[in-house]
Amino acid sequence: MEVVTPVREAVDAVVEAGGDTFKSCYQCGLCSGSCPWNLVRDFIPRKIMHQAQLGLVDFEDEDIWLCLACGTCMQRCPRGVGTIDVIRDLRRVVTELGVAEVPDSLRIATKNIAGTGNPQGEAENRAHWAEGLDIKLFTEGTELMYYSCCLPSYDPNCKATAVATVGVLKKAVVDFGILDTDTCCGGTVRKVGNESLFRSLAERNINAFNEGGVKNIITSSPHCYHTFKNEYPDVGGDFNVLHHTQLLAQLIDDGRLKPANALNKKVAYHDPCYLGRHNGTYEEPRKVLRSIPGLELVEFRDNRENSICCGGGAGRLWMETKKGQRFSDLRIEEAINQGAEVLAVACPTCMAMFKDSVVSMDKSDVIEIKDISELVRDACAGTPEPKGGKYKMQQVKSTFMLATHVDEEGFMREPHRWDAEIAAQLGKQQGVETLTDDHWKVVKSLRDYYTEFGVPTPVAKLHKDTGMDQKQIKALFPAGLGRGAVKVAGLPKPPGLYPW
Ligand code: SF4
Ligand code: SF4
Repeated sequence: MEVVTPVREAVDAVVEAGGDTFKSCYQCGLCSGSCPWNLVRDFIPRKIMHQAQLGLVDFEDEDIWLCLACGTCMQRCPRGVGTIDVIRDLRRVVTELGVAEVPDSLRIATKNIAGTGNPQGEAENRAHWAEGLDIKLFTEGTELMYYSCCLPSYDPNCKATAVATVGVLKKAVVDFGILDTDTCCGGTVRKVGNESLFRSLAERNINAFNEGGVKNIITSSPHCYHTFKNEYPDVGGDFNVLHHTQLLAQLIDDGRLKPANALNKKVAYHDPCYLGRHNGTYEEPRKVLRSIPGLELVEFRDNRENSICCGGGAGRLWMETKKGQRFSDLRIEEAINQGAEVLAVACPTCMAMFKDSVVSMDKSDVIEIKDISELVRDACAGTPEPKGGKYKMQQVKSTFMLATHVDEEGFMREPHRWDAEIAAQLGKQQGVETLTDDHWKVVKSLRDYYTEFGVPTPVAKLHKDTGMDQKQIKALFPAGLGRGAVKVAGLPKPPGLYPW
């Protein structure tokens, strides 16, 4: 093992940056046991948490650049340690305090983003990909803004995703436009530790969106989706954000898209980390795929919350990964072994990683990599235009997961994301098919207050936290917000004191 460099100030900076959740780590090692890197090489996040606790972090170690922010470890950590946040803040210390070298490829990508607004360093206008597609620029009053992400905008391997998505939106007569004043969302920039660049990109986008009158955003990348939805609110951005698979599921449900052309193939679906584990969207992409006649959906052994990262998260797309250690190769191999002829993706990063893999593995003639939007476009080609005029954006519907669940032994579990199983239980118990942000506000208030004070949230505070009156809360929880709902919300000793 290399000598560990004591950089107490740096660790203090991590704490200051908000990454102090390592203090809760009790060294059980579940994170290391669940980290996908250990399928192909050693990587011990537990060790990094311990070093942070001792104030002895080896900033020179390549390990801090390995983490993919896939979220598997955080999902399983019994103490709610935000391993991703800790590792991000260690990277931030390297980037901002210069205590070690930032890997060249990351340095170049972030420099390109700072200079041109995209990691490729392309000077070309961001909307260049849309030339000839008859897509209007977004103007005030347009229903949706489609945000294509840097990869489909500039990477020829990923452009098909944006082209197919806008094709499907047109087919469904959705009123949408694109901006030519936006820039990289900054999500990955933040994960590689460049917080100041993230903030300046976020501010630039938020200004561009606000000036343009954008309210509803559709993204193709789960990374942009997560950043706009969950990180921009901290920087003053408040938008209704949907991933394109969520919108496609709605359009199919509403009968605005009617996949009619058969695709008689076996199709494997790869859950992207930032759509699945980080945002709990597992069903919509599957629902869209199942709507295509003839398509046989096959599942990976590790699917949904157990899905393995494609290997491109948190800046790894920009870094070289040795042959034999590429998760995208493992996924392609498994998909082929399952008999899949198509690997369906819902993320441009996954698309780029898998397309590289099929070429390097010489499997391009065995399996195709397609974004779900491409499959839908083909399945809907030639079908009649929907009736009823232009599509109106609906309230975002998806099954959210609860952010913290305290299990029967009193351990905090899965604290950084909603728990699909609990959400399903809550939905079932309440007879509610779809949980919304409003359900979450109520549950969050109950959870936070109980966690801090060990007693139920006073009714007045519940109203204040949620901005809802009793009637509204009652409508959200038709089966009552008593003992049962509180138990499902993950509180260890359900008090059942609420009057409704
Ligand atoms: S799973 Fe959580 S508590 Fe256990 S070693 Fe990892 S970070 Fe620490
Ligand atoms: S986020 Fe993923 S890659 Fe990073 S330490 Fe956790 S399990 Fe490993």
